[in-house]
Amino acid sequence: MKILATDLDRTLLPNGSWPPDPGAIDLFNELTEMHDVLVVYVTGRNLELAENAINEYGIRYPHVLIGDVGTSIRKYEQGEWSSHNGWDAHVKQSSPRWDADAVRSVVAGIDGLTEQEREHCGPFKQSYYVDHDRNEVILKAVDERVKGKFDEVIVYSFDSQSGKGLLDFLPHSATKQTALEYIADELGANKADVVFCGDSGNDVFPLTAGFSGVLVRNADDQLVANVKQSFDANPELRVYFAKGDFKGLSGYYTSGVIEGAYHYGIFYDAD
Ligand SMILES: [Mg+2]
Repeated sequence: MKILATDLDRTLLPNGSWPPDPGAIDLFNELTEMHDVLVVYVTGRNLELAENAINEYGIRYPHVLIGDVGTSIRKYEQGEWSSHNGWDAHVKQSSPRWDADAVRSVVAGIDGLTEQEREHCGPFKQSYYVDHDRNEVILKAVDERVKGKFDEVIVYSFDSQSGKGLLDFLPHSATKQTALEYIADELGANKADVVFCGDSGNDVFPLTAGFSGVLVRNADDQLVANVKQSFDANPELRVYFAKGDFKGLSGYYTSGVIEGAYHYGIFYDAD
């Protein structure tokens, strides 16, 4: 079985500052179909925003959507989404102290922390906007109240487009990496037979977890440095850096995903 998993924003989707190749998305859609590839999207987007991406950019529907930064898994079959109940049970069992409502209660009242809209939160995701200028003080207060008490991970990031700090509380068992491991396991695939493509930030975990990794050419410098460092420490890792000049493609976004899929033999030329 061939499994191609990919991040969406600035990996499969050409929504960054580099120029995209016209036609690359159509080519991706055709090649995954032609080579009978099981397609997994692994994204911070929730279901609605993932559907927006599918409609806006014309990317195909995936077989599996790992959404909300790994806290939700859905399957898409015969035109319908279905939740993955096994995953929910697995997360609850692996992170027994996780409790989104309890996290919400203990951080209530921290100055500079504003809860995100309900559509950005879920049973396994409690998210906030943070006054970025005061993030050190705020995150310290958060740590004092939360850290180590809820089988949680606390992920802080800065959205340079909105200028907002973003804070996610997640169960430690529900991340992009663990969700993809769960799906690979369920499908009976070896990790090395799963190709994962990414461009930034939290993609570092699935890229260094034993899957066959691909960094698109526009991957950010920090991610490239982190992945190279992991590779130096563990030369067994399978990592490919898309470089472009491949079948007339640039290596950016979708083109880098295609290049990586050829590299690992998921796509190949018939002759
Ligand atoms: Mg991305």
